[in-house]
Amino acid sequence: MTQKTYAVITYGCQMNAHDSERISGLLEDAGYRRAESGTDDADLVVFNTCAVRENADNRLYGNLGHLAPAKQRRPGMQIAVGGCMAQKDRELIVTKAPWVDVVFGTHNVGALPVLLERARVERSAQVEIREALEQFPSTLPTRRESAYAAWVSISVGCSNTCTYCIVPALRGKETDRRPGDILAEVRMLVDEGVQEVTLLGQNVNAYGLEFGDREAFAKLLRACGQVDGLRRVRFTSPHPKDFTDAVIAAMAETDNVMPSLHMPLQSGSDDVLRRMRRSYRSERFLGILDRVREAIPEAAVTTDIIVGFPGETEADFQATLDVVRQARFSGAFTFQYSIRPGTPAATMADQVPRPVVQERYERLVALQDEIAWQENLRLVGTPVEVMMATGEGRKDAATARMSGRARDNRLVHVAVGADPSARPRPGDLVEVAVTHAAPHHLVADGGVAGLVRTRGGDAYAARLAAPATVGVALGMPTLRPA
Ligand code: SF4
Repeated sequence: MTQKTYAVITYGCQMNAHDSERISGLLEDAGYRRAESGTDDADLVVFNTCAVRENADNRLYGNLGHLAPAKQRRPGMQIAVGGCMAQKDRELIVTKAPWVDVVFGTHNVGALPVLLERARVERSAQVEIREALEQFPSTLPTRRESAYAAWVSISVGCSNTCTYCIVPALRGKETDRRPGDILAEVRMLVDEGVQEVTLLGQNVNAYGLEFGDREAFAKLLRACGQVDGLRRVRFTSPHPKDFTDAVIAAMAETDNVMPSLHMPLQSGSDDVLRRMRRSYRSERFLGILDRVREAIPEAAVTTDIIVGFPGETEADFQATLDVVRQARFSGAFTFQYSIRPGTPAATMADQVPRPVVQERYERLVALQDEIAWQENLRLVGTPVEVMMATGEGRKDAATARMSGRARDNRLVHVAVGADPSARPRPGDLVEVAVTHAAPHHLVADGGVAGLVRTRGGDAYAARLAAPATVGVALGMPTLRPA
């Protein structure tokens, strides 16, 4: 019997990227192999969906519509929909797209192979959504996209109630993994060649509240510092409300915790923060940044900002610009507010007209880009350590540049020379001097001063050499907002 093939299409945040690796692992355990041409020839297509982004509905139903003819041509083909849209729309998905075979939720990822089999045997669509987490996706088999960098989930769900956010409704209240389980996973990853882990949770600073230890996240960072062979530790996302000085001290005193912080601001106006039900104020946010920079002067701070939240006035927006000027972020993910059905903010009065949101957004982006550029220019001439990557940035034969991330998570394009034997591999480390700065990246064209061939680079090379993985994207996860 020929082996069935699968393709997983992922939308949205890092949590979905993490869950998709589990979905792939589960399917490979069940005997599937990855389709070489994506959805074109796959026997099974899984959509791991996101309900946070604008037009998520249109996008999902549009993509399902595109697959309908393929399904008609190949009746044995199966289509499954998981993730936040599945949790939200449930039966509606098979009503709107009756050619879908399986709908599964965010709490029962592990049920996918059984549901696929049941759909096949019973010749009817299976919709199974659970209200509470059945098992941490981290305990499921995995097929990691990167050989040298990995996501490690420390919690799922969120116990906050930000009024623009659909995550708590779809992912449930926060549930924390136990530190022993997390560290066991980290050690196993390092044994496999992973050099960098990103600890993942909707609100990592609340980690431990569930089992009664307010300092659990700081302790976890310090414990990661004890893992031999683990070169880089990152985390996303921290909530300013729960940020403690113990975490700042752990970041500063743990060598492999990187000097970078992605902390969502969302708005600089205290009135808007109140209506967003974000319980910190701009003064607290800036206070955390001061303490982080005092303890870790080289830290780069990035953020998320929403422009045009309902009721945002020009004065509120000016308050955001003020905080941006003071915070001097090295980068920001900026979003134009748009209604997310099912969230409290969707029905608030005073929705800001689109053209006003657009105009404010452009002013914010111009200011932030200028600041990021100035911050990057300060690094010209300084040495940086870069972990080479693939799957983002440039890999450019003409200029012989490859891209990677500095310790502070800045994107760096590095001239690595034309000699293939002297080139770093993704996962290897290089020491370079910054020669040029742009708002969103640095360039190091002066040559590689130091090349460290790491076990991560070995793991990458071994994957490339393995016939089973030919054609597989071996990307490094990038930090993006949830
Ligand atoms: S925005 Fe973040 S902290 Fe707020 S409810 Fe959503 S996931 Fe939780």
